[in-house]
Amino acid sequence: MCLSIQRQCSCSADVASLFHTNSVLPEEVVVAVHCPSCSDAVDFDQATMLRDNGWIIEYDLELAAQHLRRFGIDPQTLTPERIFDEGYSTWKGLTPTDAYQKSMELHALWAEAEGDRRKYFEDMKKWTIERTQRLAEAGWRKAQAAL
Ligand SMILES: [Zn+2]
Repeated sequence: MCLSIQRQCSCSADVASLFHTNSVLPEEVVVAVHCPSCSDAVDFDQATMLRDNGWIIEYDLELAAQHLRRFGIDPQTLTPERIFDEGYSTWKGLTPTDAYQKSMELHALWAEAEGDRRKYFEDMKKWTIERTQRLAEAGWRKAQAAL
């Protein structure tokens, strides 16, 4: 079972959706999330934080290390990037608000296909590639890794 969590940013302007693959890490590993409006005020610490296109995720590295030790991960090699890139605690989708945006865009595609399933699936394939490219160009880490 994977864990999906919603976390309001520190200024409450936005909500990020995060995803913990196989629930290896508990929700408490995410100390805070900062949106582009509130991330400027954060004293960035690269030992515990990951920056992605204006957003910042702050992790409890000690807690993460305790859980990941069971999987043979040396705490010395544990970084926020590793937690994020290996899916232990990462965006749900490609961006913090992707889970919602994606479903809205897919809904629009389905409406355009007017009940033609085949068209919908073909459009969806094309859309997925174009969208990943667009998000990668915009600077999103997971989209860049997916290309
Ligand atoms: Zn904020």
